Amino acid sequence: MKSKKSYHRKKLRLLITAGPTREYIDPVRFISNDSSGQMGFAIAEAALNFGLEVILIAGPVTLCTPREVKRIDVVSAADMRRIVSKLAPKSDIVIMAAAVADFRPARFFRKKIKREKGDLRSIALAKNPDILKDICRKKTPNQIIVGFALETNDLQKNAIIKLKNKGCDLIIANNASTIGKKYNKATILHKDGRIIKLPKLDKTTLANVILSYVLDSKS
Ligand code: C5P
Repeated sequence: MKSKKSYHRKKLRLLITAGPTREYIDPVRFISNDSSGQMGFAIAEAALNFGLEVILIAGPVTLCTPREVKRIDVVSAADMRRIVSKLAPKSDIVIMAAAVADFRPARFFRKKIKREKGDLRSIALAKNPDILKDICRKKTPNQIIVGFALETNDLQKNAIIKLKNKGCDLIIANNASTIGKKYNKATILHKDGRIIKLPKLDKTTLANVILSYVLDSKS
């Protein structure tokens, strides 16, 4: 593993996403998930110590922006996709730590749905585009793309499938039970077949370990 110091002069560009996305049903109701954004923000902050230039695309979270990180706030998966597609080609490393909603309501109601008037018992859903898969298809030479896999069961098996399907260089697999927690127990899966099981770590320490592996795979 390289020391932080050896990356100082490179000024590689990191694009990182964090937090959930919100998919609005009407102006006040939405579909989302429990992601706190802590892992992505911890990686953004740790990346500064590795001498990286960091752009953080954040879904709706209540976290402070690390100093010297350029933060762009987004709400929906469509917003996130727009920004990521624009910035990914200019980035040396892309880490998709965001918990992007896989589905959105097929229809957006402009006015708040009234309980009395409506008989709304189901909401039709449409599939959101897979941002990670899209950017992996357009991967530039020497670029490293990292995805996250959050699973409730068969973590490693599902993460290996995800690594292949999405076409990324690395997948960080973690269990859904760590969502919103201060610690995480992750496994790093490389496209070359290497699997590194990490112990339970606080998210700041884990962020540093992940970045070391990412930068090692880049050199
Ligand atoms: O397929 P799944 O949602 O489990 O994949 C998780 C990984 O894919 C994460 O890195 C997440 O940021 C990314 N993702 C995405 N676009 C989606 C769904 C997930 O980029 N629509």
